[in-house]
Amino acid sequence: MANSLGEETKRIVAQFDYTDDDVNKGVREFLRQMNEGLQKDGTSISQIPTYVTGVPDGTEKGLYMAVDLGGTNFRVCSVHLNGDTTFNLTYSKVAIPKELMVAKTSKELFGFLAKQIEIFLKKHHEEHFEAHVHRRKSSKAPEGYEEESMFQLGFTFSFPVQQFGINKGSLIRWTKGFDIPDTIGKDVCALLQDEIDLLHLPVKVAALVNDTVGTLMARSYAAPGKTTTLIGAIFGTGTNGAYVEKITNLQKSVDGKYDKSTGEMVINTEWGSFDNQLNVLPNTQYDAKLDQDSVNPGIQIFEKRVSGMFLGEIVRLAVVNLYENTNVSLFKGASNTNDGQSTTHIGDGSGLFQQWGLDSSLMSVAAADTTPELSTLRQELDSQLQIRSASVEDAQAFKDIADAIGRRAARLSAVALGGIVIQSGRLKETKDELVDIGADGSLVEYYPHFREMISEAFKATEGIGAEGAERIRIGIATDGSGVGAALIALVAERMENKGIVDELAGLKNDAAQKLAGAIPSAAKPATLT
Ligand code: ADP
Ligand code: MG
Repeated sequence: MANSLGEETKRIVAQFDYTDDDVNKGVREFLRQMNEGLQKDGTSISQIPTYVTGVPDGTEKGLYMAVDLGGTNFRVCSVHLNGDTTFNLTYSKVAIPKELMVAKTSKELFGFLAKQIEIFLKKHHEEHFEAHVHRRKSSKAPEGYEEESMFQLGFTFSFPVQQFGINKGSLIRWTKGFDIPDTIGKDVCALLQDEIDLLHLPVKVAALVNDTVGTLMARSYAAPGKTTTLIGAIFGTGTNGAYVEKITNLQKSVDGKYDKSTGEMVINTEWGSFDNQLNVLPNTQYDAKLDQDSVNPGIQIFEKRVSGMFLGEIVRLAVVNLYENTNVSLFKGASNTNDGQSTTHIGDGSGLFQQWGLDSSLMSVAAADTTPELSTLRQELDSQLQIRSASVEDAQAFKDIADAIGRRAARLSAVALGGIVIQSGRLKETKDELVDIGADGSLVEYYPHFREMISEAFKATEGIGAEGAERIRIGIATDGSGVGAALIALVAERMENKGIVDELAGLKNDAAQKLAGAIPSAAKPATLT
């Protein structure tokens, strides 16, 4: 029996092989689809312009605010950028009342958000706040704000929006349990600004932020050395990435104003929908079933093979297939465990037999347990899936399948990241400069060796190779939604002031010299010219 379990397991594991050839085929198709997205709308990789036309280099200074409306919480923070790649962050978090998620009018929700900003300012920035209120009361035009006393705020809004300016974007649809029909089609920045103004707060909604762009900015600011970051990537519940593209490559029309002087713009790829048409992506019977039974079949096909929300479900479907295979015995019958002979059984209501019943974090446990007895994994199979007294052989079969699915996810991640690195041409621009990638999300942060497996796939990629792989650095971006959003508020502020925009452009042109250490970095506070 044990032998045949091993063989059947190998057969399943082989279905998740993603060879070097597959990686190369994937990268070529990724490049094709990303360029298609730069030409026109309605393609599988959306390539959404973000109006962010530069990334920070760590020398930025100042006090900024950021708010983040996620699925469950509203986060308010202020970020003090010290100009030396470090920052100080003060933040508060409040749960969004359920009734506001389905309120009748936008005003109820956005009024609540503005109120939280007021509470935060009174608590953490009282002096600033009082000074402003005093000035306003003594001013002849009580509604007139003095620009220099305003907090510039970055607004991270994790719902689908059609952006038409750095601080303008209309809601396409609500997701994650929100349902306020009144908001659809409205500019969410304006909705927030109106409520802020009603409270007379010294705050300007300066930028609308996607979490991938926030990650890119946060990493670029904090990354060691002078190198700016190329990609911000999320590998969490979902997966997506943003990167710095040359404006000359962006051939579809971009509405609204943006600063053209840097020659670059950050593009939000929405790569979760790469190859929805299945030209090159692997499609095992388990992938197909997961998609079929999902709420959005045929959509987010890449994400469904890569991100935390889905990987556990692929493992579950493959393990159940093995469990139902009458030629082998898995998780049943007598087993030899540490405690001697016992009978393996699965508790009623085990997640193993429920859709989404297996959390991806169990894959991290499986990958981390490399001991011969697999005791940690067997313990977790018991506590998470009610699989009682699993034998070592059974746990090994589970581990082999989970590891294969995790490895395929990492190698697929390398397709997206590698494709963008090649598109950027940065490996060729210099001989030894690092290409920096900022990453965020539980999968990349906690899955053992996820980044090493990506790097291994880079080595096998034409256009990268072993030497190139050595020069690609993936760093975890912490506090992306706070620091990143604050940094985008800073970029927006500079953009609005044309003189400073020109100065920034000058700094960019000096980048090569700066990188060579020829001149000291230009850590200048914003000054008007
Ligand atoms: P979010 O995407 O909401 O910002 P996270 O980055 O924490 O949140 O990602 C959550 C996702 O990561 C969930 O789908 C969860 O199953 C998965 N996950 C959490 N911990 C781990 C882990 N240790 N290993 C692999 N996946 C994990
Ligand atoms: Mg996240």
